[in-house]
Amino acid sequence: TLKTRFAPSPTGYLHIGGARTALFSWLYARKHGGSFVLRVEDTDQERSTQESVNAILEGMTWLGLEYDEGPFYQTQRFDRYREVIQQLLDEGKAYKCYCSKERLDALREEQQKRKEKPRYDGKCRDLQEPPAPDAPYVIRFRNPQEGAVVVDDRVHGRVAFNNSELDDLIIARTDGSPTYNLTVVVDDMDMGITHVIRGDDHLNNTPRQVNILQALGVEPPVYAHVPMILGEDGKRLSKRHGAVGVMNYRDQGYMPEAVLNYLVRLGWSHGDQEVFSLDEMVQLFDIDSLNAKASALNVSKLDWLNQHYMKTLDPAHVARHLSWHMGQLGIDPSDGPSLEAVVVSQRERAKTLDEMARNSAFFYRMPEAYDEKAARKNLKAETRPALAALREALAAVSEWERGTLHETVQYVAERLELKLGKVAQPLRVALSGGPVSPPIDETLELLGRDVSLARIDAALA
Ligand code: GLU
Repeated sequence: TLKTRFAPSPTGYLHIGGARTALFSWLYARKHGGSFVLRVEDTDQERSTQESVNAILEGMTWLGLEYDEGPFYQTQRFDRYREVIQQLLDEGKAYKCYCSKERLDALREEQQKRKEKPRYDGKCRDLQEPPAPDAPYVIRFRNPQEGAVVVDDRVHGRVAFNNSELDDLIIARTDGSPTYNLTVVVDDMDMGITHVIRGDDHLNNTPRQVNILQALGVEPPVYAHVPMILGEDGKRLSKRHGAVGVMNYRDQGYMPEAVLNYLVRLGWSHGDQEVFSLDEMVQLFDIDSLNAKASALNVSKLDWLNQHYMKTLDPAHVARHLSWHMGQLGIDPSDGPSLEAVVVSQRERAKTLDEMARNSAFFYRMPEAYDEKAARKNLKAETRPALAALREALAAVSEWERGTLHETVQYVAERLELKLGKVAQPLRVALSGGPVSPPIDETLELLGRDVSLARIDAALA
């Protein structure tokens, strides 16, 4: 069966480049009814942290990229790596190298002087005896010296690497610990990975991995190396570009659906379609239509997608995400109008969930102070009669429902011979503390009679 994997190194948060690779791998597995594996490449024990593992898992969960197998941890597989290294040694496909650091440094220096690519010269390849019984050694893979490795990359096409340019890679360090390319190969083999979709910074590792796989007698997987993501300025993505962690996007108020849709379009297209539901992505995604050129971030597109999803997804679903943002503001949304109703009333106006939460906070708690400018203009001696008249009329409303509430506010305005705004705006400031809210009848309805009347009283006090 078809199997893909996402293999992050836990040295930071889940950044959007990694998330996109994970998404492509996930989509490809889903599309073909295959399996998606999560593998944590934590062998670099100095840089790997548990926090980072948690952050990556949190990011995957938030995006909804659930895995079928794993998470596997490379640090729990050292016995297996040792076994494979021993097998390669026994079969003569790897050898012990006793070259000292001094010798290798000198070799490199010489090669640099001659303007050659630094590479191991194979001194220990055919060594029969160790220089001393207990001399320390590393283990090197006996890379073929002739021929070429041809990688039929699904994104970059045919890429050929001459074996004469690859040297004998270290697969185990002096302390016996396996190196990166070895662990990847053993895992891809053991886990039965059929398609490797990863960043193209790994393209140069591929011929080495293919050679080791071949030495182990297994067919290499299909490779698809995805170009990196650039900042909006077309430069390599870095902290300078602001949010690059997936969870930063959540914090800024983006829906996971919007982020997924945004990510899939960074490097993949289907005609000129911009909006893809997850089902559509699964149906339409293909690695052959991945772009070989790097794609640049485009925040306005993400904003646009986010608004689209806030406006069109089930309000109950949007409300669940909004609820998290309410919590960030210290607001308990169970104490007030239904969040779902608030979403329906607010979603045309906000670009992000964060903005929606801020605009909706007043439904759950009156701001500590009125917006100064709005209050100066609307809550003053001249507007008191209008507010008082509203208070009286609203208190007499029998059915607290937006149609009736609308008529009531209009009726008060007419009776006082004022424009609707002259009545509605003071009311709005009294109810929300500021100059913006949903239409006044909706605002009244959502707040309910008791809270509305109490807030008018407070403004009149
Ligand atoms: N652990 C590698 C990384 O995070 C990925 C290796 C792979 O996909 O083969 O860059």
